[in-house]
Amino acid sequence: MRNTGTAIPEILTLLPRMVFPMDRLTPEQRSANMAAVRFKNTRPELIVRRLLHGLGYRYGLHAANLPGRPDIVLRKRQSIVFVNGCFWHGHTCPRGIPPSSNIEFWWPKINKNRLRDRRVRQELKRQGWRVLTVWECETKDTARLQRQLCRFLRANRFLSRRRKGRKPQLVARSL
Ligand SMILES: [Zn+2]
Repeated sequence: MRNTGTAIPEILTLLPRMVFPMDRLTPEQRSANMAAVRFKNTRPELIVRRLLHGLGYRYGLHAANLPGRPDIVLRKRQSIVFVNGCFWHGHTCPRGIPPSSNIEFWWPKINKNRLRDRRVRQELKRQGWRVLTVWECETKDTARLQRQLCRFLRANRFLSRRRKGRKPQLVARSL
């Protein structure tokens, strides 16, 4: 370790650029970058996960080998749950409305996310998955959300009986 005395400060001078490249962007550029990233482990997602866990369901997370890298994958039930932020994914609720002062900036980005979400859902369904989208605003009322999750997953249980033998084409790696 004797010769690292000078090397460490050199590395440290590089770190801010390596770790925080977005700090050199304008606020608008940064926001656009953030919009392109699907947030993981958000508070709404943790609420859904806690409810599912409490109901006795087991799931995989952020399955990178499935279209759209779904947040929650319940493989035994051929089911996928997305937990979407109302703003980034363009929900038709008050939280999903872009600021009117800058609507021309936000609208194309949000619309792009919506179109991508729709494509992803269609592709997953084509592969035999059932898909539920839970919106951020729906995680406020946990009792209602719990009923919604139960309905969705019970329906899937009956569905998978009817479709016995038909398996999803892809299996989530994290399960
Ligand atoms: Zn909403």
